[in-house]
Amino acid sequence: MKNFRIFKQVPRLIFGEGSLNRISELLPIKQNDVNYYVFIIDDVLRQSDLENKLNIKKSDFLEWFPASKKEPSTIQVDNLRDKIIKTHLGKMPTAIIGVGGGSTMDVAKAVSVILCNEGSSSKYQGWDLVKSPGIYKIGVPTISGSGSEASRTAVLMGVDRKFGINSDYSMFDGIILDSQLIKTVPADQRFYSGMDCYIHCVESLEGTMINELARGYAQKALEHCKEIFFGNSDDDKLMTASYMGGVSIVNSEVGICHALSYGLSIELGFRHGFANCLAFNVLDEYYGEHVLFFKEMLKINNIVLPVNICKNLSQKAINTMIDMTLKMERPLSNALGDNWKKILTRDKIKKLYQRM
Ligand code: NAD
Ligand code: ZN
Repeated sequence: MKNFRIFKQVPRLIFGEGSLNRISELLPIKQNDVNYYVFIIDDVLRQSDLENKLNIKKSDFLEWFPASKKEPSTIQVDNLRDKIIKTHLGKMPTAIIGVGGGSTMDVAKAVSVILCNEGSSSKYQGWDLVKSPGIYKIGVPTISGSGSEASRTAVLMGVDRKFGINSDYSMFDGIILDSQLIKTVPADQRFYSGMDCYIHCVESLEGTMINELARGYAQKALEHCKEIFFGNSDDDKLMTASYMGGVSIVNSEVGICHALSYGLSIELGFRHGFANCLAFNVLDEYYGEHVLFFKEMLKINNIVLPVNICKNLSQKAINTMIDMTLKMERPLSNALGDNWKKILTRDKIKKLYQRM
């Protein structure tokens, strides 16, 4: 009999188009005048009247997060924590609400953790390094695919690595899946983030760490992704897929594509969904027919990926990318088994990057 980890899921979830206005059902009540909420919202949503819809008060702390600039970093998270503490003279917030894509939701999760754990967020990148529970937090995705709304991960760029804070304390206490919020996402970005979900499902299903329960989530999410990106678009289904793909990953692990994609993001600054697409495109040897379906979906959605992206990179740059890939031990072991170092050699990784 195999002992699986405790199956983790967000405990409270409100689902349905237009459900954002039910946020008060998830929020702990402010007991007095000095209590406040922290809202961290993707700044592309400035024109969406969210201050009203979320009933944000002057006494609350509101940060418009520049998610479209680059992927979030440990420095941004540390600075935001310091700013919150300074503005409210050390008084802790009653709740943190993250509204945006994986970037913004991950910042909300990380800030929640480091408000209650001393030092820089970089100290907690890794597995189960967080000691104290964070501030109560709510996630509201406005783009689907990353599965951050479901996961126990907050992915951040550090000085020399992109890595997640993976902890039960970096999981949301409640989430709202309101498909009204994803309607403004541009088609190409919708595809890249949606493919992040498709790839989560493939890596989870094809990995060694999956169990039957996580398989159920991954299979359903994969089915939804194919239906949507083969032409039957449906926003409720896309939100569902993102969430279910996230649940499957929490209870299994990602794989080779994510390991290679982190290298691309570190060295070339490519965004996660896009970097994943570039990497997945050359992984037919490992993910077989899933890659063929992916290529079909690229065509149907008129997405043309750039080619020869590593052609002008120095040997030093390629080495940094290979080093980053090799740091992803758990995903690589999930994908290839305990013997993964013998299978995915430095030379093999270099060849894969050169095919992109
Ligand atoms: P994102 O948050 O990086 O956003 C992508 C782009 O879409 C940004 O320009 C953003 O401003 C824009 N956007 C968001 N909502 C919009 C809306 N409603 N209308 C118009 N534009 C909108 O995208 P993502 O793909 O959700 O997340 C990627 C990030 O999540 C990466 O940093 C990645 O490392 C991380 N990630 C985290 C997990 C996890 O489990 N925590 C899993 C996968 C990826
Ligand atoms: Zn991902």
